[in-house]
Order: sequence, then structure tokens, then C-alpha cells
Amino acid sequence: MGAGGAGGAGGMDAAIRVTVWNENVHDRRKDEVRAIYPNGIHEAIAAGIRTRLGDRAIVRTATLEQPAHGLTPETLADTDVLTWWGHTAHAEVSDDIVQAVHQRVLAGMGLLVLHSAHYSKIFRALMGTTCSLRWRVSDDREVVFTVAPSHPIAAGVPAAFVIPRQEMYGEFFDIPRPDDLVFISSYSGGEVLRSGLCYTRGRGRVFYLSPGHETYPVYHQPEIQLIIANAVRWAAGRDDATGGAAGGEPYKAIKSPTGWFENAAREG
Ligand code: ZN
Repeated sequence: MGAGGAGGAGGMDAAIRVTVWNENVHDRRKDEVRAIYPNGIHEAIAAGIRTRLGDRAIVRTATLEQPAHGLTPETLADTDVLTWWGHTAHAEVSDDIVQAVHQRVLAGMGLLVLHSAHYSKIFRALMGTTCSLRWRVSDDREVVFTVAPSHPIAAGVPAAFVIPRQEMYGEFFDIPRPDDLVFISSYSGGEVLRSGLCYTRGRGRVFYLSPGHETYPVYHQPEIQLIIANAVRWAAGRDDATGGAAGGEPYKAIKSPTGWFENAAREG
């Protein structure tokens, strides 16, 4: 299908071509990271997408150390959605590759920006702000609240769910106002963060998701895998999945005892 050109995976039935990119530095050097992600964070993210989307996605991985960081013009042209994880090696990403990714986003490629990639060259270029935030690695409990339950990225995601141990990312997060705010997180320390954010840039859809620190098994958690799979479909322009409970009742006030989210994850 498709008449060639820069974008387009054909019709709604065509498999989404996903490239999962990771700097793959901690993953190779730190034992505590290898213990959680023995094949690298990229393989865990890719596995989650493959499991959730099955033959609706064709998933490849790419890493920093490969020629052109694994993002050759051919690969980018063959990618509908790119996911990006980086932390310690943002500066090692070639400006030419960042420029090529940027142009592909403007031409319609979807981009998922994950966790510490808030400071990646590509996200900062797309946002135009510092993308700075508050942080702490101290085994915080993170609670992720779904604040746009009708959004496709929230389809099947609980009203709130707990990530038992996580890095704290807190406000102020210096980003432009998003088109949609899908998730907000709180932490045991009391901080909050806009943790799931949608943007459009040119023809491209961009989603930022904050959970995902390398020393915690966040990418193995089912709710996070679901969010990423939903976001891949959304970023590819497959909007047929709706988050709202069609035919359900209007929302009502919910009396919520302290700590309700620890057990009752699927409310509302
Ligand atoms: Zn982190």
C-alpha cells in the first residue's frame, strides 16, 4: 500500500512499523541494571509492544553504538513510530541524526519519549524549552492517575495504579502546555508531575511518559506496557481504540478512603 514518500504505513490495517531506540549504556555497564533488563531496556520495551500488539506491529530495535545510531535514512523512512530512551549519553547523539528524526516527526512519524529522555536533544528541540524537572532516586512509591479516561492512550488503564519503587520526577516540569494531559503522578515525598503528555509537531504526534528509571523494573509492569502499546497506536494515527467506557454511566463522586489505590486499581 501507499504511494511511497516519507510517511505512511498504508491503511488502518497495515502493521505499525515501530523502532525502539535506546542509548544502551547503563544496560551494558551496570550490574544492577542488567539484573532487571538483561537484554537491555530496549528489548523489554520491544517485548511489551510485541506482546500487546501482536501482528498489529512490526518492532525493531536500534541503539546508540550502531552506525548512525541504528537510525539510517532507510530505517527512519521505514518507521511509523519511534520510541526513545536515553539518560547518560544524550550529548553523544549526533546532531545530524537528531535533525533527521526531527524532520521525520514533522513529516508524520510518531515519537514516544520515555523517562529521562525528557532531556534528550530531540525532545528539547521539539519542545523548545529546557525540559528541566525536579528529581530524586530514593525508592519513592509513584501513583499514576488517569486524568483523561476517554483518551485512546488511557484505554484499559486503571483510574490509578501504583509503581512500588520509582525515581521521583516532580514539578515544575519546564515543558510547553500539552494538547492533552493523560496522566498525573504523585510520589511518597508529596511531589506531583504531569507524567503523560500529548503534543503534535507538524504532522507528527509526540507522547511523553515519565515512569521508567533503569534501576527499577518499570517496563515489566503490565500497566506501563499497556500505556506504551496504546501510545504506539495513537502516535501512528490509529485512533480507533477509545479509552472511554462506551455505554457506561456518567462519572459520579467517589468516596475514597486513604490508600484506596493500593488495592482497588480498576475503579472508574
Ligand atoms: Zn531515571
